[in-house]
Amino acid sequence: MSQTSLKVLQGQRALVTGGSSGIGAAIAHAMAMAGAKVAINYLSDNSAAQSLVNEISAAGGEALAIQADVSQESSVEAMFQTVIETWGSLDIMVANAGIQQDAPFMEMTLEQWNNVLAVNLTGQFLCARAAVREFLRRGVASELSCAAGKIICMSSVHDIIPWAGHVNYAASKGGLLMFMKSLAQEVAHQKIRVNGISPGAIRTPINRAAWETPEAEAELLELIPYKRVGDPVDIGRAAVWLASDASDYITGTTLYVDGGMTLYPGFREGG
Ligand code: NAD
Repeated sequence: MSQTSLKVLQGQRALVTGGSSGIGAAIAHAMAMAGAKVAINYLSDNSAAQSLVNEISAAGGEALAIQADVSQESSVEAMFQTVIETWGSLDIMVANAGIQQDAPFMEMTLEQWNNVLAVNLTGQFLCARAAVREFLRRGVASELSCAAGKIICMSSVHDIIPWAGHVNYAASKGGLLMFMKSLAQEVAHQKIRVNGISPGAIRTPINRAAWETPEAEAELLELIPYKRVGDPVDIGRAAVWLASDASDYITGTTLYVDGGMTLYPGFREGG
């Protein structure tokens, strides 16, 4: 029996940032099918968020679309207030929103640097802080979960694999790794679990150029020992497990969901 048919998140309330597309949409869907009520945060694509809400409702789940810019404090605060007013509290926060603005280092503008840090790192801070405050206000609701709350930070294999031409993005994800671990250390005694998921190459809009043509996909597969590009559902399944009590003793850990990309595949033949 799959974890979604077991409804391992029954009755819990989840918020997924950047939830209207790609990985976030797959996580929102998977969590809803596992029994959670899911708030789908979107930045601007209201119709995509609304159609995901409709899809989840049609499948018997419950969801809500909320516009917010995760890099803006007032916007994040208003989003959490909406979730808490609607469902009483929050149990799971998936900080998934992220952007890339790539440039060779010499040409990278301060704006490109700041934009990426603002969403990928400050956005994580603002959302995690709001979530921790709510988890502590409410405490453990043992009928729902062993933990007072669960935070999942969406990182990347580029939190440990350097990435030329993407210095702002790699710096944001590398920073996120220590953000996640330090926060996990700080709140573990309060029964809050904080973990990261670091996807490898997943077929979504953020990296379309890397898989769109057969040539690009063949080149990408050279970096993936498991020899397939990831699907957003691969991340959705991992997120459900990390949010559920099945992973209750796990905190401060990163789950690399990458088909082996972090195994240094070039060393299979050489080194
Ligand atoms: P995506 O572009 O579909 O998703 C990013 C989402 O974040 C979008 O819905 C976008 O609207 C939203 N967003 C951007 N700025 C925002 C803001 N200021 N406020 C709220 N939402 C905002 O791409 P994706 O691949 O699904 O990316 C999701 C996460 O996964 C990102 O953090 C990304 O860095 C990470 N990731 C993706 C891959 C991959 O291969 N696709 C690999 C590693 C990590």
